[in-house]
Amino acid sequence: MYVTRKCSSCGHWAVFEFAISGGRASETCTHCRAAKRDLPWDRDARMAHAAYQAEFERLCEKHPELRELRRPGDHLKLAEE
Ligand SMILES: [Zn+2]
Repeated sequence: MYVTRKCSSCGHWAVFEFAISGGRASETCTHCRAAKRDLPWDRDARMAHAAYQAEFERLCEKHPELRELRRPGDHLKLAEE
């Protein structure tokens, strides 16, 4: 699946490829290809993920352009960052 996050490597908001397998998760920035692999995917991680999605929804109210990030490779920087 794809999720929108701020990338700590390239500093852009970008579409991440998010994969879960065997109880572990990995995410890859589709803009700069920075990847985090072998992340725990346990109950805490699932709750943090859900909380993040809610936070992102709130952020989209303020920055509707974040909703435009849908396809792999899409990325942007928010003006005030
Ligand atoms: Zn990146």
